[in-house]
Amino acid sequence: MQLTFLGTNGWFDTATGNTCSVLVQSEEYDIIIDAGNGIARADRYITQDKPVFLFISHLHIDHIAGLHTLVKFRFKKGLHIFTRQGSVADLNAFVREPYTVPFSDLPYHAEIAELAEGRHSLPFTVECRPLVHPVPCFGYRLEIDKKVITVCTDTGVCDNIIELGRDADLLITECGLKPGEESPGWPHLNPENAIDIARQAHAKRLALMHFGAEVYRTLDERYALQLQFEKEWPGLIVATDDLTVTL
Ligand SMILES: [Zn+2]
Ligand SMILES: [Zn+2]
Repeated sequence: MQLTFLGTNGWFDTATGNTCSVLVQSEEYDIIIDAGNGIARADRYITQDKPVFLFISHLHIDHIAGLHTLVKFRFKKGLHIFTRQGSVADLNAFVREPYTVPFSDLPYHAEIAELAEGRHSLPFTVECRPLVHPVPCFGYRLEIDKKVITVCTDTGVCDNIIELGRDADLLITECGLKPGEESPGWPHLNPENAIDIARQAHAKRLALMHFGAEVYRTLDERYALQLQFEKEWPGLIVATDDLTVTL
């Protein structure tokens, strides 16, 4: 199974990359988590002949800005969008004229549904739990093709990341902060938090994404984390746009 980071910036696009989106290519489905501006590059990787599932973590614009590019795709087996319970009306208010083409007018079949906290069979298993963020935000655990992939952004430290990341083949967390930094007023994770969570969850691999655009101004600042934390977490994946991981 291939996983590709389509966008890895938090907040806004810079020379380091686009805002958040992750593509998981399973045997039967193409699955995308979040629709930041990176989603526009999905068609570099997918043939568009499998059903596409899109999971939205929350409605901050760095996670939905790319929705206006959905009209360029030709998903032959349709698009299934899932968002947190109670958020469809707000999402439809964002994805509509005069801003962009509404979901109902896309040039392929698209449907949108809400997910409650818990485990769902969609037909693959997805578990979603709330994270710690100023607005309601879900972390997602995908169980597919005998692999577990967990994506948790945006959030401060919480038990739900550990539960979602339990024994994951790949745990992806945000990394809004630099090592040693904290932001109690608007919680995010620093690399030490992410490693601590991955340890507690017994995740097999850990990848960092959603690097704060104002915090990590160059890719070298991201790459420095690999050296700094090589002993604490050997093989730490520091995501950049278009990085592909094989699971
Ligand atoms: Zn964000
Ligand atoms: Zn956010």
